[in-house]
Amino acid sequence: MDDKKQERKLKIRNIKNGISIDHITAGKAPEVLKILGIDRGFTDSVTLAMNVKSSKMRKKDIVKVENKDLDVNEINKISVIAPQATINWIHDYQVVKKEKVKLPDELIGIVKCPNPSCITNKEREPVKSIFLVKNTNPVVLVCKYCERETESLY
Ligand SMILES: [Zn+2]
Repeated sequence: MDDKKQERKLKIRNIKNGISIDHITAGKAPEVLKILGIDRGFTDSVTLAMNVKSSKMRKKDIVKVENKDLDVNEINKISVIAPQATINWIHDYQVVKKEKVKLPDELIGIVKCPNPSCITNKEREPVKSIFLVKNTNPVVLVCKYCERETESLY
């Protein structure tokens, strides 16, 4: 099967209401599910495809979740681990909104600093973390307080 045909086939298996996240960096779909808080207790339908051939990206992951919406925090988190992702909001099998994630210049309160002695990790009255984007491809973030670099959310 050629790449275009395979992509089309994946699009057919659509959901009635919910979100479809396409062009996720290959191998990152499980992290996206973690961001969305989807674990064993989740009861709605979830479709996950990993390392799918893509004409745009060579390989990509796709996640579709029924009866789910996304908030700004979740979208920002997805933009860190999958900067090329596109989010489709689906209502009655139709895409009603499509948005490409955009890495914000500053990530406030969503990335955990890997430096244990950073003031954002203090046990008492920790300061909300602020990370600045140093590089977008691959993503490199820098803590505004201790200047520790990180590539991931946790
Ligand atoms: Zn820090």
